[in-house]
Amino acid sequence: MTRPRSVAVVGGGLAGLTAAIRLADAGCQVTLLEGRPRLGGLTHSFRRGDLDIDNGQHVFLRCCTSYRALLDRLGTAHLTHLQPRLDVPVVSGRQVARLRRNGWPAPLHLGKSLATYAVLSPLDRLRAVRGAMALRAVYRDDARTDHTSFGHWLRDHGQNDATIAALWDLVGVATMNVHADEASLAVAATVFQLGLLTDAAAGDIGWSAVPLQRLHGDAAAAVLAAKGAEIRLRSRVRALEPDAARWIVSTDDDRVVADAVVVATDPAQAELLLPAGAVPQPVGWSAALGAAPIVNVNVLVDPPVLSEPFVAVIGSDVQWVFDRTAQSGLSGGQLLAVSLSAADDLIDVPVAELRVRLMPALTAVLPGLQDSTVLDFFVTREPQATFRPAPATAALRPATRTALPGLVVAGAYTATGWPATMESAVRSGDAAAAALLSASVATEPVVAA
Ligand SMILES: Cc1cc2nc3c(=O)[nH]c(=O)nc-3n(C[C@H](O)[C@H](O)[C@H](O)COP(=O)(O)OP(=O)(O)OC[C@H]3O[C@@H](n4cnc5c(N)ncnc54)[C@H](O)[C@@H]3O)c2cc1C
Repeated sequence: MTRPRSVAVVGGGLAGLTAAIRLADAGCQVTLLEGRPRLGGLTHSFRRGDLDIDNGQHVFLRCCTSYRALLDRLGTAHLTHLQPRLDVPVVSGRQVARLRRNGWPAPLHLGKSLATYAVLSPLDRLRAVRGAMALRAVYRDDARTDHTSFGHWLRDHGQNDATIAALWDLVGVATMNVHADEASLAVAATVFQLGLLTDAAAGDIGWSAVPLQRLHGDAAAAVLAAKGAEIRLRSRVRALEPDAARWIVSTDDDRVVADAVVVATDPAQAELLLPAGAVPQPVGWSAALGAAPIVNVNVLVDPPVLSEPFVAVIGSDVQWVFDRTAQSGLSGGQLLAVSLSAADDLIDVPVAELRVRLMPALTAVLPGLQDSTVLDFFVTREPQATFRPAPATAALRPATRTALPGLVVAGAYTATGWPATMESAVRSGDAAAAALLSASVATEPVVAA
């Protein structure tokens, strides 16, 4: 196929936005069709009174190079914080430890921190170091690695409930959205090797200093408009049909004809839209890939009770707690976001019950809550926050290219090797654009607009 002059991008999440910007930067006439009234997909914000609230707390790591390049292109990188050095306060009961790196190269950068990691016994710290060294050597591209459960592998390599809770699940649940026993070793090895074990700076944590809507969706709309791309919101695509060498993209009341199409939706919509035989996955692949929920509990308190940007918690119903005060625009008091990943048992629990269950646990982590007033307590729920990166799911993740000319797939769930993260979404969008542009022209990185 020759390089397309016009491209329809279906889905305005990070994958679709990345593909659309890269294609527009390369001179293609881009039409972006998004079913919802806003861009940003699973990273968005809404108003609650005077506050901007994100649908869920998002963080990234320094090793998320494609995502960070997208922020550069959007002109919003300066609206994020990135730790100069990884530093995570970890609360377990009354103990507080810190997982932080020093200036040494990997894997020694975490050595001192693990050697003094007070939430584990000295013997368990040694176990954890041995486990880390073994995980560093795992060959993640082997199909057998993907078929292996991370939890089984950890136990086979000397790990116990304490090390799994205090280290492997502490990081793994937040990044993979499943517990170690439900995770593919290949995906886990990707997370830990790239994030913590091979490059000392890779795991430094970043987060948005503004609402996600401003960081991603609104900024992308401005960039695309400046490039002459057309954005159609509230345009849910119902069908894709090949027509001679072109594609007809139909919504309920409209249609777009384009040389090429990027399907950048969630997996279920992608399976519905892709013509039969476009991808080699068996019918029902999107359901087999599954979905895992994330719940965010937002607690508005006065006076403030958390003195760090965030804290991680083990041995509690509370997982990670973030200070969202500045991002929300709150002028007095403090907005806490309690991020609960792998939230299968919480996703349908009513707000009042969540409050009864979580406030005592949160007060144990932040004792200042005893003397603080809770002014608001509300919950955001994303039942399909990510796919489930279970053992043997690699084969269910479609590649960028389909069997049909001019039709490519993007999305955090596609075959990037990463769990469903912003980095995976952006990588998939980059790959989709590159696949379409590679027909006759060398591609430029997304930053080079
Ligand atoms: C609460 C929460 C917390 C998270 N935390 C983190 C984190 O800390 N770090 C991290 O890296 N990642 C995190 N993630 C994951 C990350 O947000 C996603 O992996 C990423 O945003 C997915 O982007 P995407 O473009 O692949 O998909 P989506 O964002 O799902 O975008 C798909 C888009 O397609 C649109 N669409 C679907 N069907 C159609 C159709 N037929 N026609 C037109 N449009 C359609 C949808 O409306 C949507 O806008 C989190 C996710 C959630 C929900």
